[in-house]
Amino acid sequence: MNKDPKLVIILLGPPGVGKGTQAMKISKELKLPHISTGDILRANIKENTELGKKAKSIIEAGNLVSDDLINDMVFDRVKKQDCEKGYILDGYPRTTAQANTFLEEAKVNTKILVINFFAENETVVSRICGRLVCKGCSAVFHQEFNPPKADGVCDHCGGTLYQRPDDQKETVMNRLEVYKKNTQPLIELFTQKNLLKTINCEQSPQEVFNETLALIR
Ligand code: AMP
Repeated sequence: MNKDPKLVIILLGPPGVGKGTQAMKISKELKLPHISTGDILRANIKENTELGKKAKSIIEAGNLVSDDLINDMVFDRVKKQDCEKGYILDGYPRTTAQANTFLEEAKVNTKILVINFFAENETVVSRICGRLVCKGCSAVFHQEFNPPKADGVCDHCGGTLYQRPDDQKETVMNRLEVYKKNTQPLIELFTQKNLLKTINCEQSPQEVFNETLALIR
């Protein structure tokens, strides 16, 4: 008997556009795991694993970790049982090589939807530069646009909020360049494969969420 296809939702878009925030909300709503390659890498850095040691300086400079390391890390994660019905990818794929490898691996009984989150450069820079992230659950806040109820404390789990080292302005500019050069071409690639829908993220997080859900459903 044929199983229902797995639903894979890929969130594409520049750093700071709100992928992480939306991924968490969609994950809760659809009961699908949220897989953020950035979060997995940061956890490896914190635990000082071999992968973490290799990735630390690359991430802090705002560059990309090698395709092989990232692909292995993602395939290891998505073969876990909680991904059986599907999952949400946040921050992967980020290069044409990653996208092609993923499409090849995922082609059996899988429905892929790529959501391209779009916002102007100035918007993403201002969102990243005031961003605060929870050390415990990775929830995202913003000093000005979405402040936590208590200073420096996560509303959800009580964890400590911090500014990511790669969210400093100089690194952000490099990350945006890296996005333009390496990741933006995926918009064309996924459009040609008829997998991509775009959402304007100049709206409030709730409006973006409503549109995203409508698209998925
Ligand atoms: P993010 O949390 O998605 O902004 O990712 C933080 C950093 O982790 C990026 O700037 C990269 O250095 C690294 N990273 C995350 N995902 C990938 C990926 N798919 N390919 C290469 N590097 C990645």
